[in-house]
Amino acid sequence: MWAVASHVLKNKLTRKKRYPLVLMLEPLFRCNLACAGCGKIQYPGHILKQELTPEQCFSAVDECGAPIVSIPGGEPLMHSNIETIVEGLVARKKYVYLCTNAIVLKEKIDLFRPTKYLTFSVHMDGLEEEHDFAVCREGVYEDALEAIKLALDRGFRVTTNTTLFEGAEPGRVREFFDEMTELGVEGMMVSPGYSYSKAPDQGSFLHRDRTRGLFRRILSAPRKGWRFNQSPLFLEFLMGNEGRDYHCTPWGNPTYNLFGWQKPCYLLQEGYAETFDELMEATDWEQYGHERNDKCRDCMVHSGYEATAVDQTFGSLRGFLATVRATFLGYRWTEDREDEGSSGEAGGAGIVELPAVERTQVATCGSVRTETKA
Ligand code: SF4
Repeated sequence: MWAVASHVLKNKLTRKKRYPLVLMLEPLFRCNLACAGCGKIQYPGHILKQELTPEQCFSAVDECGAPIVSIPGGEPLMHSNIETIVEGLVARKKYVYLCTNAIVLKEKIDLFRPTKYLTFSVHMDGLEEEHDFAVCREGVYEDALEAIKLALDRGFRVTTNTTLFEGAEPGRVREFFDEMTELGVEGMMVSPGYSYSKAPDQGSFLHRDRTRGLFRRILSAPRKGWRFNQSPLFLEFLMGNEGRDYHCTPWGNPTYNLFGWQKPCYLLQEGYAETFDELMEATDWEQYGHERNDKCRDCMVHSGYEATAVDQTFGSLRGFLATVRATFLGYRWTEDREDEGSSGEAGGAGIVELPAVERTQVATCGSVRTETKA
């Protein structure tokens, strides 16, 4: 928290208009799963075999200067030198979030040492049934649960990251948050999925109005003990608070991978820059954002909008007080927005009632599941 606050304030004081908060470092695209909603593993075999070297990772981190480094992928624990990369980043005092499906965490855990700079961010898309369905393989939830328990016992920091798609049931998501809280994870992250054009399951991506309705139903009365590893203002943005109608900040979470610095963000691939400075200077940032670009239309993901929320928190007294209020008194949303499934009182005064649902069958992962429609 302090590292982020001081980084934002330093950039504000020097009147820097665009600065990064979290570097998304993808050291490989290879994975031991093939999830239906993933847009990262569709590369040909010769690309999937390649890896960034630790030196390439360090020079990207040094160039960028963000205080937080998130390592997604692919599955980073499949990288042949992941422990060297993590060690080098920790030595630079970077806060590292190693994003993993945890399938091989138990066998690799001895490669790492607990430190405040390293967090295992375990991919969990819901309770057992929903998670195993989302990752297209049975037994992954149980494996991840065991790995989380082991990592916590060994003294590691552990958070979860959850992506929600069309058909997510608010009550089940709330139960999932309860289960993770009981397990003792330090915090939870949640985001709607981005509609990757290359993902095999195109029917499961949420549109903006449905995203707001869904998050309102999940978060309108957060249970005692739930801890989110996210800006409360970003959560209010997901719930449809009109004061949080944010513009995207794609440079807040720049992405570096095998091809270089990806333009403009973690989700779109509109070319690559050779250096971080080139990415910042040569990208036409004005053409991106949900109101300007069709590819951004339904995007509300954390890698695009959380940096906007953090900037609001530390950019004004009003933003800071709104963050304190949301943290201690609950999230607020705008009552009369006409989002799907959105009815309820502002201020987290009770769980928003679920509308009547119609259940249909959706084909994905080579099987069929039930989808709930408001
Ligand atoms: S709105 Fe989403 S897809 Fe578009 S630039 Fe921002 S983060 Fe990328």
